[in-house]
Amino acid sequence: MTTSKGLCTSASGELRAERIARSPLLVDGRFRNPGANIVLRLPENLAVTRELMRDRGKRVPPRALPMRDPLGAWRDAVRSGLRATWLGHSTVLLEIDGLRVLTDPVWALRASPVQWAGPKRFHPPPVTLAALPPLDVVLVSHDHYDHLDAAAVRTLHRLQPQARFVTALGVGAHLERFGIDPAVIVELHWGERFELEDKRASIEMFAAQHFSGRGALDRNKTLWGSYVIAGPTHRVFFSGDTGLEPSFAETARKAGPFDLIMLEVGAWHPLWGEIHLGPFQAREAQRQLGDAPLLPIHWSTFDLALHAWDEPMLTLEGFARDEGLPLIAPQIGEAWELGDAPLRAARVRALDPWWRRV
Ligand SMILES: [Zn+2]
Repeated sequence: MTTSKGLCTSASGELRAERIARSPLLVDGRFRNPGANIVLRLPENLAVTRELMRDRGKRVPPRALPMRDPLGAWRDAVRSGLRATWLGHSTVLLEIDGLRVLTDPVWALRASPVQWAGPKRFHPPPVTLAALPPLDVVLVSHDHYDHLDAAAVRTLHRLQPQARFVTALGVGAHLERFGIDPAVIVELHWGERFELEDKRASIEMFAAQHFSGRGALDRNKTLWGSYVIAGPTHRVFFSGDTGLEPSFAETARKAGPFDLIMLEVGAWHPLWGEIHLGPFQAREAQRQLGDAPLLPIHWSTFDLALHAWDEPMLTLEGFARDEGLPLIAPQIGEAWELGDAPLRAARVRALDPWWRRV
């Protein structure tokens, strides 16, 4: 397995350590964000904080969330070449030009080191791991518990041993510990690309402003990033977790134009503006990335912040209505397919604000 830089990425521990040591992002053995600090302006910060505190009682949905069973939609061929099925939080099944990629698979009851405490999911997964169609790639953006679920990746590997696990440099050590065969693990650094030659597709990693770690001692020992999944005719941007990374416009120039932009919009707080987008910065990021339809992720599954569970979508819904933000907002488990009509049509696609009915 090689990247565009010709680095072997099915890493032994030693090779992994060497690659980490060579990273220009490493300072004193830990990765860091090189970008400028970007925060919301203070008055905006205070207003938003007040708003968040007022909504505290609504951090969990008052009743069960509506969900769709995606299996029916998945039996149909992908007519347009691009279909995305959001399965909750940052888990999306992407079908792009014949390639199937599952992002950040989390099936666990809790996004936590233990399953008896920690943030508990609002809804069951809309589909079982065993019912997923054959996958080419499982893409794990970084090692946080709400993105890397040890039991889910272990089960996926057992069910689908052919699927590659593409992830950020260092995260492969976790995957190996969970029992994933090193031969199917691909670890990327920012600027590196993994080519799937048989599919004429690639996954390239770009910068993100975030952090990593699963315990008290491993903070920022593994890398984080955003990713571009590209086939011969379609391109999708996947933010992973990030703040308003200064290089988004450059990423769009290098790897765009995108047909779909998947951005984290929830589990945010103004004081965490550098490491999580939230809906206000997601709107800006989406512009910088070229204004393709936005699929909001990282919301509706876990209570990881102080805001009301539906606050990100109420905000984005306003942007869609008032400013023409091209927004798609499927129900959990609902497949969305790029229309055959030009992209402009996606802008005026009627939005079903299902979160208002909960
Ligand atoms: Zn994270």
